[in-house]
Amino acid sequence: MSSSVALRLPSIDGLLRHPACAPLAERYGRDSLLTGLRQLLDELRPGVLSGQLAAVEIGPEVLAGRVGERLAQQQRSQVRRVFNLTGTVLHTNLGRALLPAEAIAAVENAARYPLNLEFDLASGKRGDRDDLIEGLIRELTGAEAVTVVNNNAAAVLLTLNSLGARKEGIISRGELIEIGGAFRIPDIMARAGVRLHEVGTTNRTHARDYQAAISPRSGLIMRVHASNYSIEGFTARVPTAELAELAHRHGLPLLEDLGSGSLLDLTRWGLPAEPTVRQALLDGADIVTFSGDKLLGGPQAGLIVGRKELIAKIKKNPLKRALRVDKLTLAALEAVLGLYRDPDRLAERLPSLRLLTRPQADIFAQASRLQPVLADMLGETWSVSAVEALGMIGSGSQPVARLPSAALCCRPQVSKRLRGRYLLNLEAALRALPIPVLGRLDDDALWLDLRQLDDEPVWLAQLPQLQAAP
Ligand SMILES: *Cc1c(COP(=O)(O)O)cnc(C)c1O
Repeated sequence: MSSSVALRLPSIDGLLRHPACAPLAERYGRDSLLTGLRQLLDELRPGVLSGQLAAVEIGPEVLAGRVGERLAQQQRSQVRRVFNLTGTVLHTNLGRALLPAEAIAAVENAARYPLNLEFDLASGKRGDRDDLIEGLIRELTGAEAVTVVNNNAAAVLLTLNSLGARKEGIISRGELIEIGGAFRIPDIMARAGVRLHEVGTTNRTHARDYQAAISPRSGLIMRVHASNYSIEGFTARVPTAELAELAHRHGLPLLEDLGSGSLLDLTRWGLPAEPTVRQALLDGADIVTFSGDKLLGGPQAGLIVGRKELIAKIKKNPLKRALRVDKLTLAALEAVLGLYRDPDRLAERLPSLRLLTRPQADIFAQASRLQPVLADMLGETWSVSAVEALGMIGSGSQPVARLPSAALCCRPQVSKRLRGRYLLNLEAALRALPIPVLGRLDDDALWLDLRQLDDEPVWLAQLPQLQAAP
């Protein structure tokens, strides 16, 4: 292409004065617009110099349109709501527990106004943030005292370092677990300055194994909930009560990392049994640690509960200051714990428990209702059926137990060779919706487990935007 007049990019000043840019300056601010225009012109310059761009491609309206798209994209939050239809309720990558309305209101109140975070209103003196929830925790677990940190990993690190630094921590080989990659018990022990003394075998550990390990170098005995794996078959594990008795006979504290932990017996709602914090303490554990955002159904936090003098020692550790929780977390946690005072209504009020206990018949009815809509949307290439499915609690609670649920199962009606690509395309198209929809690929199908589809109208309203999957 030859042209007599060389193309030139419009000037920045000219663009800024152009009417097409005025609404952008108004909306995003002059500085952002200026930066956006500079970047865009820099990118276009080589194309202009080499003659690859036509005049229409660098007209002010076109450039304003392109900058506008970019600024809109940049302004959109990176923290995005999604539909979790994976079948895993407490999904670590998707933010675990959803907060109840009471906790959301408490967070707003704590965010908006000054509060007595570390101020004792009765005496007018400095207070302690843990005191805000200590009464509730004592009532709900029977513990003497509590301290709260950023998450359960922090709780384990802080407890080990406070009670066992430069001494040996005795633990069964069957409990040297890894949770989600970065959290491995042996590594955390090392970082906490506790020397690992492993006893027993992967599948069987006896009281005599612990007994033989105890020496003047011992600092504590630790027990860890196996969480994300299960040992079955020829196994042996020392009951907590027996282990506590052994530890106390030798003047050692017994720590129990319950992982998820539960404040109430979940079998009352037909869920698999999880050890409760109260029971672990009754059995004699001196310190119990657990997460705030797993089965408890609250904000991310790590709770350390147990004997008063040990908690006092933990609170004196300078690491506690580095791991402490903020006011928003404490406000949410207090509100969630408050709901546990009325167990009869807990399943209505706590979203995680409500979702975990949703009856399969209810979910199946929803799947049957939505099946024709999705089938219609996806067209001939796909077979969409409402089927029974099995979900999971997630977050290391009951790795083997399955929650009877129902799903929309989407199978591409194409040759085996093409199936994988079709499935990936559909998965990506669902992920590209304004509120991304996340399902699960399994057995040559895409499964949308509907246990957690609360907001059906919003889900349906955005379906027409599904870019037709091939
Ligand atoms: C989940 C889990 C942790 C880590 O808890 P976070 O709250 O995710 O930090 C530690 N120990 C056990 C046994 C767990 O299941």
